[in-house]
Amino acid sequence: MIILGIESTAHTFGASVFDGKNILSNEKKAYTTMSGGMIPAKVADHHVEHGAEIMSLALKKAGMTFEDIDVIAYSASPGIGHMLRIGAVFARTLSLKLNKPLIPVNHCIAHLEIGRFLSGFDDPLLLYASGANTQVIAYESGRYRVFGETLDIGIGNFLDSVGRTMKLGFPAGPKIEKLALESTNYIELPYNVKGMDVSFGGLLTNVKNKLNQGYKLEDLCFSIQETVFAMLVEVCERAIAHTGKKQVVLGGGVGCNKRLKEMLKKMCDERGIDFYSPENEFLVDNAAMIAVAGHYSLETIEVAKSYIDPYLRTDEVEIKYRN
Ligand code: AMP
Ligand code: MG
Repeated sequence: MIILGIESTAHTFGASVFDGKNILSNEKKAYTTMSGGMIPAKVADHHVEHGAEIMSLALKKAGMTFEDIDVIAYSASPGIGHMLRIGAVFARTLSLKLNKPLIPVNHCIAHLEIGRFLSGFDDPLLLYASGANTQVIAYESGRYRVFGETLDIGIGNFLDSVGRTMKLGFPAGPKIEKLALESTNYIELPYNVKGMDVSFGGLLTNVKNKLNQGYKLEDLCFSIQETVFAMLVEVCERAIAHTGKKQVVLGGGVGCNKRLKEMLKKMCDERGIDFYSPENEFLVDNAAMIAVAGHYSLETIEVAKSYIDPYLRTDEVEIKYRN
């Protein structure tokens, strides 16, 4: 079965062809800007402009045409409405034109499923650290449950907000990582872990104040990374202790950060459990994960009933393909 995956929850428009065993292509184009952040209407325009070309490229790389597609999986939730709608419109149009079924996919679950697929792990816990989302997710009794999460903004949005104040452009995460490598001078910052959850809002205000007080960018970037990644690893470790899971996978664009990978791996090594980080192209938002998760679920929906849901939570989705 040939599945075309379409990703369109935020800044990335992606298309991927998956044959049930192999990812044959994984194309994407991500919105970037040097000033300001992500303005939904502008990002939606970007997806409209590049969507068809990305889908054609994905098919070409897979050596296929639209007629070879058996099923279309699209990211239906959660995400920003403007962008979700563009991917859904492409998916519905193809479904009607090709007369092939549609599968709605939850983006957060797709991050876990691509990690599970690539690692070969059967039952991993996911640390999902992306722009808008920060969650610790694992399977339990018919659903992917959220064992810990951010109480305010996602870690990537936090890094991008810090970067905007530092005039680093969007996305700022990779630039903060580079600056952090230039320092080992730790500046005390608020460490906000509340039970299984984390929060970044107070830290953001604190860092913005420090930027006005003349602290060096390199020192701040180093200290920010050490602080927020320690927070993530702590809640992840607590979730492992609670669930007894023996495998951890990483997901989300912030997962590209080498320091985060290193800290997470160290914690897993110390606990004697397995750790796997997908290649960067599968950590950031991508359509291969939508195709793979669609293949696992195979729960199709009629075009007339197809939906987008910007706020659907990971643990609201019933998972019928695992027991
Ligand atoms: P996603 O929403 O999963 O596509 O991830 C996008 C987020 O990942 C943005 O907030 C980026 O700033 C962040 N990001 C990308 N690369 C890195 C990196 N090397 N270190 C930290 N954050 C990163
Ligand atoms: Mg994501």
